[in-house]
Amino acid sequence: MAFPRKSTVWLAFLVLSLALAVGCGSTSSSSGAREDASTPDDVSQRVEDTQVEADLVPDVPQSSGRQTISDSLEYVELKGLETSVIGLSKQLQFSIDENTVSFMIEVLGEPGVLYQLGEMIDPNGDALVVSSSDPSFCVECKNRVAGAEGVAAFLFPNTTDVTLAPGNYTFRVSSIKIVGEGGVPSSGKFDLVIYFYKKAQRPVVGTIDLNFHFTGAGGITVANAQTNQKFLNAVAEFKTIYAQVGISVGEVRVRDVGDTYKHVESLIGADNDFSNLVALSKDNARGVNIFLVSSITDSSQSGGYGVILGVSGGIPGPTMDVGTRRSGVVVVVEKSFGYNGEFGAVMAHETGHFLGLFHSSEAPFLKIHDPIPDTKENDYTNLMFYAGDLYVQDASAGNKLTPGQGFVMLSNPIVHLQE
Ligand SMILES: [Zn+2]
Repeated sequence: MAFPRKSTVWLAFLVLSLALAVGCGSTSSSSGAREDASTPDDVSQRVEDTQVEADLVPDVPQSSGRQTISDSLEYVELKGLETSVIGLSKQLQFSIDENTVSFMIEVLGEPGVLYQLGEMIDPNGDALVVSSSDPSFCVECKNRVAGAEGVAAFLFPNTTDVTLAPGNYTFRVSSIKIVGEGGVPSSGKFDLVIYFYKKAQRPVVGTIDLNFHFTGAGGITVANAQTNQKFLNAVAEFKTIYAQVGISVGEVRVRDVGDTYKHVESLIGADNDFSNLVALSKDNARGVNIFLVSSITDSSQSGGYGVILGVSGGIPGPTMDVGTRRSGVVVVVEKSFGYNGEFGAVMAHETGHFLGLFHSSEAPFLKIHDPIPDTKENDYTNLMFYAGDLYVQDASAGNKLTPGQGFVMLSNPIVHLQE
């Protein structure tokens, strides 16, 4: 009953969906493995078959109640939750009022465990999330969700096709212990925070603070950041791209973090370079944590993924928590083979994931497109096209964002800290 029997696929896809990769990598083995993940021995059946068992998990501990961050931001924290031996939590519940524009759930769990939502039912009884045959990525969910290792975040809504109804929502968290290149359902403890963004009118503008972390890559340091043209160009490009959807950059903070992870060589597992690096965002003020490095490779996976230009801590990442193993994006500052653009666009792409955007289109053979209706399929001019500027000679042509993508980005609570 091990799940999944051969599951290179979902783990490979998890990394691919988080990384802006250039080059061929392991596309053929990915497509082959993908079929394995849909065998009948999958999570969705297990969930249905063992509902009763799941409900035997001890009662949810008392929460601290609603806490206030600002006039428009609230959160509720639940500590010491558990998943049962089938890797599923008890049904959890919260409610929202008619002024709630969006909410984001952050699961803070154990290293080496993949967390995903097992279900999310809205007040009308509509399933916004269903259990998927691919535990890392629910493509068929009305509100698409991606699982992540150790710390995972889920944003609602993340498409203009989902409208949040006021009332009670119920959901479950699932957990799978990563074993080799697959995984098995696992029991364990986790904490959970739900952030609520409340406003009488849906926002059309927002602001994000950026926390930059330098490893010495590209020669950029705190000492020269104010005058380093490469860095200044990248920040300017980022601002131009985000201005398309009404998001401006607020405070920009800088920090040197040493050169231990100047070359990121692993992305998955309990002790990997990516997680160790982004955890250095600890003690920062809230903001999008961006780490500049010289190279990203992944030795933990067979086959590799070609040249990786950047990686996000999730789709979305845990934007409201600094210092976790998923609290940031990592971006290569040196030009890579086959990539025509500057790293400002890569920074914007990875931050797009971090705020909640999926690739507008994945590689053509996968036939997977984001759930946002106004993004065209296989449009290489979109910022979130899977291969970025790979096919574009004029780098600026690949930086477009649609109003629908802006809707998702403006749903993320981190964009409204300053209100
Ligand atoms: Zn990407």
